[in-house]
Amino acid sequence: MSKIICSAAIRGAYKIVKQAEDKLKEAIESKGKDCKVEFPNTGYYIPIIYSMTGIAVKTLSDFEQILEIAKKLLPPIPDDKFWLPYLGHTLDAGMATLFAEEIIEGCKYVIGPNPIDGIWLGAADDVIMRERGIEFVDGTAPGFAAVVGAAPTTEIAVKIARELQEKNLYVFMSANTHGKAFAEQLDEAGVQMGWETRLVPFGKEITATIYSLGFASRAALSFGGIQPGDFRRNLLYNKNRIFAFVLALGEVDDEKYANAAGAINYGFPTIADTDIPQILPTGVCTYEHVVSNVPHDKIVEKCVEVRGLKVSVAKLDIPVPYGPAFEGERIRKEDMYVELGGPKAHAFEYVGMREINEVEDGKIEVIGHDLEAFKEGDSVSAGIYVKVAGRKMQKDFEPIFERRMHHLLGEAQGIFHMGQRDMIRHRISKEGFKAGLRLRHFGIILHARLHEEFGAIIDKVQVTIYTKEEDIQKLLKEVRSAFHERDMRVADMTDESVPLFYSCTLCQSFAPTHVCVVTPERPGLCGSVSWLDGKAGYEITPTGPNQPIEKGKVIDETFGEWEGVNTFLYQASNRQFERLSTYSMMSNPMTSCGCFECISALLPLTNGIMTVDRDFTEMTPCGMKFSTLAGMVGGGQQTPGFVGHSKFYITSKKFIRGDGGLSRLVWIPKALKEEIGPAIEKRAQELGFEGFLAKIADETIAQTEEEVLKFLQDVNHPVLSLAPMI
Ligand code: SF4
Ligand code: ZN
Repeated sequence: MSKIICSAAIRGAYKIVKQAEDKLKEAIESKGKDCKVEFPNTGYYIPIIYSMTGIAVKTLSDFEQILEIAKKLLPPIPDDKFWLPYLGHTLDAGMATLFAEEIIEGCKYVIGPNPIDGIWLGAADDVIMRERGIEFVDGTAPGFAAVVGAAPTTEIAVKIARELQEKNLYVFMSANTHGKAFAEQLDEAGVQMGWETRLVPFGKEITATIYSLGFASRAALSFGGIQPGDFRRNLLYNKNRIFAFVLALGEVDDEKYANAAGAINYGFPTIADTDIPQILPTGVCTYEHVVSNVPHDKIVEKCVEVRGLKVSVAKLDIPVPYGPAFEGERIRKEDMYVELGGPKAHAFEYVGMREINEVEDGKIEVIGHDLEAFKEGDSVSAGIYVKVAGRKMQKDFEPIFERRMHHLLGEAQGIFHMGQRDMIRHRISKEGFKAGLRLRHFGIILHARLHEEFGAIIDKVQVTIYTKEEDIQKLLKEVRSAFHERDMRVADMTDESVPLFYSCTLCQSFAPTHVCVVTPERPGLCGSVSWLDGKAGYEITPTGPNQPIEKGKVIDETFGEWEGVNTFLYQASNRQFERLSTYSMMSNPMTSCGCFECISALLPLTNGIMTVDRDFTEMTPCGMKFSTLAGMVGGGQQTPGFVGHSKFYITSKKFIRGDGGLSRLVWIPKALKEEIGPAIEKRAQELGFEGFLAKIADETIAQTEEEVLKFLQDVNHPVLSLAPMI
């Protein structure tokens, strides 16, 4: 390893460790040693430290211990006389840097400045980890580029970002070059950032680079099943499985060298646009460690080559780039050519099942004008009518494919897919139109991608796109009655009306004992897997995470306990849990992974429960914030008195039926109350309560359990007359 790099990295490590020492001192002086410290909503503690040392940092005093470890890792500053070409020292300096930076960022969450600020997002929480991390495992995303610094111009920044997106890579951004950050350049150019577009701005300081490497560490823990503290296997997993690299733009100072050294521990090379000493011989990384002076128009290509990425881009015959990175992209009004739907226009999209001989596979027709016939800014009446057929196709899958259109169409750059059914409002960008994008390409995309994703059940796909008003008026009648019929079928579906439930164990990748038992009246706790989704999931991938569960003999009707479900749970939870009361939060409640939309918690004083959703980050009457509750309830445990669940479940007839049902609900955040208020009222009326919604407290009414109780007595909440909960 080059001498210059080594000394720079080691110098940088010393500086950052010193900075961590100062920051920690400041934090302890202002908040005390016992002050809690965490990245929000995660069960992985402070992730690099946790995965490398096995130490679960919970308080500032735990950081003191880590600081000592970081100091011990610091190698002697190399001097010219006793130079050893030994990579180990540099790697240690790199690891010390990462520990120190986690201390700094962790302290920021305690005493500020808050890492979440403006465009900057700070640490990824566990929901993001589940949604995004899995993409690294299933290959949807080949890896990530940790972009450090800034490009010489905004245009170059945009170009590099687009190229990385086209390769389906996540772009993690941190640090700055002389006060300017890559993410700020994208922001200036109006590029949409966020997890949805895979352009993720972590933080403006170099220390925010740990959010990228922390993501990698967590991926190894959750998806690689690697134990905390097993640093060797964690680093090896990353070297072999996570295709990541550092893209250093602009001057590379000591601190950036130190971070590059940290990344080399993971086998992630650094590729730079400036003239820094190269380290070409291979060793820890799969290929070169540091490659410098790469011109901007070649740099993405070089990164891919150095890290040995195999990028597979589905080739569709359409004139715009296509891939998941483009799905989250919004098209603003001023960038829009036309929209399908919108004011004064009528539009719909529909997937219908037909007999096999009624569908002509691959036939794509546009009946009426295509896009060039419309004026810029028009709202266009349009109907996207998809017929599918297949021996394994079932009517119940129609809505699943229809919902899938959101992704399939949205992944084309230039199409912004919004809404569903007869309430669509898809925007087509000026840029896309100019590139040649037309309505017939919608058909090409749907035909190709439906086959690709659902080949197991669909044999034929035919797409017709209508733009004549009279056709649309006629078809709207037809599809609306189909939608209605479909709704009736699902609305009538009860847990009693089906012989089978479905499991979802997708989250076992990071909560190995967690099992969602998905029933018609209780979707998965993340809110995104309904019973129908579970059923379709099973039919599509019979060995996948959705398995049928025979209910078997009823053990307790009210609590929702069945023999078959218990047997299934025992196996599927890796023999951790033997019993499940589907409708109780007090005895054998459902396990919780970490993705729950809401958590319900007992408020013992009130004889009732509070329900808090993820968007509410303030203190709740149970004395814990959502993040603290999540840490306690999550991880695949049954926690009596607490349960994670979807929003939908709150107004289900089966909502904690065993514990008294909806009438136990005494506190929810105001915003959630407004969101699901009408459904709560409706359900309460079925139960015979008038004006129930107004009797539920929120944060503007009561903040402590005592205040909640006082309010309940003032309004005479029905919970007061229920039997004790414990
Ligand atoms: Fe995870 Fe449950 Fe959602 Fe499946 S249904 S993804 S297991 S939270
Ligand atoms: Zn989950």
